[in-house]
Amino acid sequence: MQKNSVSIKSSKEILKHAIRFIGQHNLTAVPINYTVSYEYCRGDHALLRQAIDQAIASKQPINNEVMQCWFDTLLLGYDLKELSESQLELNKIASQLALTTTQAEENVIQFDNSLNECKSGLSEAPNISSLLSIVSLLLNSTTSMQIAMEQMKQQLTASKQEIASLQDRLAMATIEAITDPLTGLTNRKGLSSAISEALLSAQQSQNYPCLLILDIDFFKKINDSFGHLLGDKALIILADTLKKQIKGKDTAARYGGEEFAILLVETDLQNAWKVAENIRRIVENLKITRIHDHQEIFRMTISIGIARYQADQSINDFIDHEDSALYQSKNTGRNRVTIFEAKL
Ligand code: GH3
Ligand code: MG
Ligand code: MG
Repeated sequence: MQKNSVSIKSSKEILKHAIRFIGQHNLTAVPINYTVSYEYCRGDHALLRQAIDQAIASKQPINNEVMQCWFDTLLLGYDLKELSESQLELNKIASQLALTTTQAEENVIQFDNSLNECKSGLSEAPNISSLLSIVSLLLNSTTSMQIAMEQMKQQLTASKQEIASLQDRLAMATIEAITDPLTGLTNRKGLSSAISEALLSAQQSQNYPCLLILDIDFFKKINDSFGHLLGDKALIILADTLKKQIKGKDTAARYGGEEFAILLVETDLQNAWKVAENIRRIVENLKITRIHDHQEIFRMTISIGIARYQADQSINDFIDHEDSALYQSKNTGRNRVTIFEAKL
C-alpha cells in the first residue's frame, strides 16, 4: 500500500469536505480547484494547510486565481525526483541531529551527577587524600565532557554543511525546472507561476498585468533555408533582446517553440503597446550574421498579441485573448502588434 493512500471511506469523507470548500468559496468546479481543496481537506500537506488557514483567518478572498497560485507554487513547482532525494537526505540529517542531541543530554546528566557526587564528597572529606581523589574524579569528568562537547561540535558542523549543500541543490533544481535550456529564459511553467503571483499581488490594487505573446514570422522558412542551428541562434538572439527590454518585476519567457511571452506587471494597455512596438522595431532591425566575417545572413520579424487581465477572468481566458490578438497580427500581414479587443 502507498504511504499516502487513504481508505475508500475516508477518501469519500475528504471529497465531501472538498466539495463543501469549493461551494463555500464559490469556486469553479474544475480539476485544479478539486485537487487543491482535496489536498487541503486531507491535511497532509502542511504548507498548503498553513497557507489556506491563514487566508481564511485573515479573511482574504479565495478565488480561482488564488487556487491556481497555490496549485502552481505548492503542489507543483519542484523537480519531484530531486525533492524526494533531498527529503531522504534531510530525514537522515534530522535523525543524526536527534541522536547527537540525545547523546549530549546523556553526557550533561552524567556530568551533573559527577558534580553532585563531588560536592557532597568535598563537604564530608575527612582528609587530604580523599580530597585529592575527589579532585581527580572532577578532572576526569571535565575531560570526558570536553571530549563529548568537541564531538558534538564536529557533528553539528558536518550537519550544517550538509544542510547548506542540500539547500543549494534544491535551489538549483527549482531554477532548472523553470528554465528553458536553449535561451536561459523562464519556461511556460515559470511564466504560469509569475502570472499567478502577479494576479495575487494585484488583487488589492486591481492594477492588473498585461501579457504579450510574440511569435517569429515564417520561422519554418528560416529553418528550411538556413538550417536548425542558425534557427536556434535566432531564438537565442531574440531571447537576449527580450531580456534587455524588460525591467523590475516583469518576466520574459519562452512560451514554446518560436513563441515567447512577456508579462508586464501593473501595466496598462497603452504602455504595454509601447513596449511591444519598441521590441517589434528592434527585432526587425536585428541582423543574424556569420561568425567569421559578420556578413548578414538573414533578418526576422515578429508578430505580437497583447491582452490585459480583466477582473475575475480565468488564466486560460486571459491567454486565449492573447492568442486571438496574435492570430489577428498574423492574419493582417505579420510584423505587427495587436491589442485584444472584446467582441461586444
Ligand atoms: P507563422 O508566421 O505563421 O508563425 O509561421 P511559422 O513558420 O513561424 O510557424 P510554424 O508553426 O509553421 O513553424 C514553426 C517552426 O518553428 C517549426 C519548428 O520546426 C520551429 N521550431 C520550434 N522550436 C524550435 C527550436 O527550438 N529550434 C529551431 N531551430 N526551430 C524550432
Ligand atoms: Mg511563427
Ligand atoms: Mg508559432
